[in-house]
Amino acid sequence: TKSVFRFGGGSADGDASQKTLLGGKGANLAEMAGIGLPVPPGLTISTPVCAAYYDAGGKLPEAIKAETLEALAAVEAITGKGFGDASDPLLVSVRSGARVSMPGMMDTVLNLGLNDATVVGLAAASGNPRFAWDSYRRFIQMYADVVLGLDHYLFEDALEILKEDRGVSLDTELSAEDLQGLVKRYKGLVAQHWGDEFPQGPHEQLWGAIGAVFGSWRSDRARTYRRLNDIPESWGTAVTVQAMVFGNRGDTSATGVAFTRDPANGERVTYGEYLINAQGEDVVAGIRTPQYLTRAARERAGAKAASMEEAMPQVFGELAAVFALLETHYRDMQDIEFTVEDSRLWMLQTRAGKRTAKAALKIAVDMASEGLITEAEAVLRVEAGALDQLLHPTLDPKAKRDVIARGLPASPGAASGAVVFDSDTAEARAKLGEAVILVRTETSPEDIHGMHAAKGILTARGGMTSHAAVVARGMGRPCVSGAGSLAIDLKARVMSVGGRTVAEGDRITLDGATGEVMLGEVATIEPELAGDFGVLMEWADKHRRLKVRTNAETPADCRTARGFGAEGIGLCRTEHMFFEPSRITSVRRMILAEDGKGRASALAELLPEQRADFEGIFREMAGMPVTIRLLDPPLHEFLPHDEAGFADVAAATGLTVATVRRRIGELHEFNPMLGHRGCRLGITYPEIYAMQARAIFEAAVAVAKDTGEAVVPEVMVPLVATARELEITKAAIDFEAQQVFAETGRTLEYMVGTMIELPRAALRAGDIAEFAEFFSFGTNDLTQTALGISRDDAARFLTTYVDMGIYPRDPFVGIDEEGVGELVEIAVERGRKARSGLKLGICGEHGGDPGSIAFCEKLGLDYVSCSPYRVPIARLAAAQAAL
Ligand code: PEP
Ligand code: MG
Repeated sequence: TKSVFRFGGGSADGDASQKTLLGGKGANLAEMAGIGLPVPPGLTISTPVCAAYYDAGGKLPEAIKAETLEALAAVEAITGKGFGDASDPLLVSVRSGARVSMPGMMDTVLNLGLNDATVVGLAAASGNPRFAWDSYRRFIQMYADVVLGLDHYLFEDALEILKEDRGVSLDTELSAEDLQGLVKRYKGLVAQHWGDEFPQGPHEQLWGAIGAVFGSWRSDRARTYRRLNDIPESWGTAVTVQAMVFGNRGDTSATGVAFTRDPANGERVTYGEYLINAQGEDVVAGIRTPQYLTRAARERAGAKAASMEEAMPQVFGELAAVFALLETHYRDMQDIEFTVEDSRLWMLQTRAGKRTAKAALKIAVDMASEGLITEAEAVLRVEAGALDQLLHPTLDPKAKRDVIARGLPASPGAASGAVVFDSDTAEARAKLGEAVILVRTETSPEDIHGMHAAKGILTARGGMTSHAAVVARGMGRPCVSGAGSLAIDLKARVMSVGGRTVAEGDRITLDGATGEVMLGEVATIEPELAGDFGVLMEWADKHRRLKVRTNAETPADCRTARGFGAEGIGLCRTEHMFFEPSRITSVRRMILAEDGKGRASALAELLPEQRADFEGIFREMAGMPVTIRLLDPPLHEFLPHDEAGFADVAAATGLTVATVRRRIGELHEFNPMLGHRGCRLGITYPEIYAMQARAIFEAAVAVAKDTGEAVVPEVMVPLVATARELEITKAAIDFEAQQVFAETGRTLEYMVGTMIELPRAALRAGDIAEFAEFFSFGTNDLTQTALGISRDDAARFLTTYVDMGIYPRDPFVGIDEEGVGELVEIAVERGRKARSGLKLGICGEHGGDPGSIAFCEKLGLDYVSCSPYRVPIARLAAAQAAL
């Protein structure tokens, strides 16, 4: 089979649909070449070769080498240059490209093919010795770093020393002779630290670089990125070898990156940066401050350096035309890399641009309005999980701000936390539950774990397309980049800014929407959801089948959830009401009572409180379905565990400390999650469920009478394993209902159902359905019991499990489709068979997880239920699952 695919010279072997085989970069280069855009010719070694490379023990199979050389010969023919030709050498770049982009995670080598002979040829052929030596020194540094594994600081230091010697601040101010001297110094560094001369053979260089790029697929940072983004190890990366074009050939050359729309807010403007006389990595690395592309952007920023529109009007015009063409061709916002060599434009990359949730929303809605995509496509365009970014607070504009620095508004959102100066510290302190802000001079891919752990990211250097900015936007972390007034002293663990000193651990606040950095914590406000958000949600609602309910126990949460579009309550955990300070003493009296009579008197105190709780919820939900779950947790959760606590409880309940201590001792359980909880409480202490059922029906009758609206309570029994448990409990609930109806002279419809959260219940769903009018899958407990993994203790080993691929994702976040999923599937089938019209929902955490929602759609559940803030995510995910 073919493993090497060519592109360039007006045609290509592949196209954009072949990302699986060619990687994103390779597929899009082929596509651009195929539609006639100016793309330097090259070849892509396909992704299956990555596995072959590892299988061969980190070697490129000979057959692949032969195919590569054949394709390289075609590149030579198109360019008219020879690889290794000392008179006019072909130079190439070697780049990675996986199926989905993993920005900065893998390695790249530029200017490959240079050696002591070809550099002279390049100088002569280009008539520009400075450019030739500049390219060579760049090549040595990159190759030494990526392929030979030498520290890039060695080379950067040597460059800094040279610049100091020459009294210049920019590398563009160094002469050809300076750079020639630097090359000599670099080669010396290689010999000294690598132990051998810098490789001179172009083919040796080529195989070295290709191997290193394949090898970087398994680098630590690439693995971390894959884990955070659910990218399987097995995909592998492709490698693209492409003829170099040079942005560092003088003042009519340049390199840049651009987005066809603003990736931060979605506005339809050309957005990007470029640098004259530079190569691509200079822009991303933030070594020089990049210039704006458009005059409007430059003026808005008050910058002096000429925009590309002003400095190179003609090429800019061509570029703008290419942007327009790429947007209509791909029907999506594009992220583009380009190079201008001697006033000639070349496209080096295009891909769907990463964007903030806010921008994704605006771009999807705008593109649908522009007629570029359909409404359904717009719904599919916005990643449901990313909506989270929009649903979180921003800084209160009225709050006092002590602004100590300003940078670029690189990724929106507001965050406060303790300053930390390195990623390991960020991770360590975040693990202890502390909110931290990662502050770095600039970030690199090695910071990925720290950026993930941090609530926000602040850098002193780097532009809007810097590593920090791109990665933070992708992760949804607020980020302020390029705050130039910031000086970090890593040794002293302090930063100074505007004459003030901030130590590690001090609290600061970032506003990623304005670029402001503030001392201390600043108040935040809830996001308002209107405009594009509302439009997209409306479109989503048109396409979804699953209903979306919420897990809520207070009228305030109900209101939030309704604001987000919840269509009912799928889980009201009544135990949360028991912890209220006004009633915890009654709860404890009830628990500590020696007998049913004692319990009944404490429960009598709780009845009016519970009734008021339920009335509040029924009123707030105004006729929508409300599922109320009877008490579930083991009773000792409501009791203290130390002597001081015992004394408090004794004082509050009027019992002696000794009695309290003894009763708590009696209630102790070795394995409370499998102990005296759920319907087992209701069966052994029937007074508890009787009180709760009475409170529910009294409240429902009162609200129905008062509002004239139908109130249909759904009473839910937790932790049922057998049909008989539900039969007994249901009878008790029905009894209370009849009592209340008789007392009030009113009746209403209600339902009794059960959670399915134990494997036995899933298997015996047929018998259980005889007594249940609905099932709600409690996938938290079902995961815990099916996998035998404690939901409270899993954190210690689950990361390792996920890293090793034992579970593809944390099964408490994304449902384990194979195991837990099969149990759910069995219960759906057996339940529905026993009772047609059985209502089915899910109320475990998975109810708000887009992947799990897709699974629920597949199983044909009636609704999902999730926490209020996840309701919009669930609405969108449900629509996407149905489309
Ligand atoms: C569940 O187990 O999935 C559930 C929703 O109940 P809880 O989380 O309260 O145990
Ligand atoms: Mg449960």
